[in-house]
Order: sequence, then structure tokens, then C-alpha cells
Amino acid sequence: YLFGKKRATDIAHMVWKHVVQKGDTVIDATCGNGFDALEMLNLVADGSHDGYVYALDIQKDALDKTSLLLEESLNSNEKQLVKLFNICHSKMENVVPRNASVRLVAFNLGYLPGGDKDIITRSETTLLALEAAKRILMPGGLISIVVYVGHPGGREELETVESFAARLCVENWICCKLQMLNRSTAPIPIFLYRR
Ligand code: SAM
Repeated sequence: YLFGKKRATDIAHMVWKHVVQKGDTVIDATCGNGFDALEMLNLVADGSHDGYVYALDIQKDALDKTSLLLEESLNSNEKQLVKLFNICHSKMENVVPRNASVRLVAFNLGYLPGGDKDIITRSETTLLALEAAKRILMPGGLISIVVYVGHPGGREELETVESFAARLCVENWICCKLQMLNRSTAPIPIFLYRR
């Protein structure tokens, strides 16, 4: 099934399905056009045992796009389960309730497709956000990152993510990446699973 997936985000979604349960709290740390947030909502909500999606983006434009997609795709009850925040993902602890057990924090790095390509995720804040995600993730939870290396700064950001992952303690974390060896600029999904 892995080889039928065309995009790195499809691979990430497939992995999420094996980790996320109905009723979970999850975070979309870069909600962009809203496709990942919609996928997450479908994983956490079933109408009787509903979870929450916290969707963050630094760009108002992205939140408007996510909001529109959710408006078109969800019923009014489902829409209440997605909380949108116009903040940097390094501040995620300011918006997610302290007592929430967070099952998934997902990063889809880079710039907003169809938007301003100068507004991109940056290594420094990505690292702060990964540290925040590590603090709030529950055991049995996942940090999922799709890294893009085709734009300026992308390779540096990949190095930042990889060195963060390499420092996580081996007893508590399983860290892996899926790299296309014959496509040097393909996006790279990275998964950090907390045991
Ligand atoms: N997940 C999105 C989707 O499903 O459509 C795509 C995300 S897009 C590749 C990357 C997003 O990260 C952009 O919308 C950009 O505004 C956002 N971003 C950049 N820096 C950020 C930051 N420090 N905190 C939160 N979001 C950020």
C-alpha cells in the first residue's frame, strides 16, 4: 500500500490512521489550506465520541482557506471540533488545554501552496515548536513532519528536524524518515513515535 501513495502527505495520513483514535486531541501545527486538518477531524470524530483538532497557522490567509474548506466539508457539529488559531506553532502550549492528552502533532513544513512563498516555516521556530510538541505529546502519540527540501532553507530545516529527532532518548522514542533515494527533492515524511 505504501507504493500506491503518490504524495508524502498521503503517506503521513496513512501512518496517522494507525495511531489516532476517536476522541483524541490532535494538533495541525501548519494548517495551510486545511487538507490535513480535515483528515485529522475525520480520524478523531464519529458523532458520539468526538475529539478536537487544534489548527494553527501564522498566516491569516491560510486560516481563511482552512475555514472555507471546513465550511464546505463539515456539518455544524463537526466544525465546532476544529479550533483555529492565528499563531506561531512554537506557541502551541498557549492554546491547547493543559490537561489535554495530545495524540498527534503534525507539521507540513514550507510555504502555503498557492500563497505567499516568502512566508515559510523557519528552522528556529520549527525547533521551538518540536520542543513544545515533545512536552505535550502523550505516550502512544506521534509527531509527524513532512519536510520540503526544494526551496531555499529547506535542507537546513531538514537538518534541524533530523538532529532534534536524533537527540530523542531511544527508550522512549522511535524516530524514522522515509526518503525517496531516486528523487532528490521529494518531500520527506518523518515520524517520531513516543512509546
Ligand atoms: N497542512 C497544510 C494543508 O493541509 O493544506 C499545508 C501547510 S503549508 C505546506 C505550510 C504552512 O505553514 C503555511 O500555510 C504557512 O503559513 C505555515 N507556517 C509558516 N510558518 C509558521 C509558523 N511559525 N507557525 C505556524 N504556521 C506556519
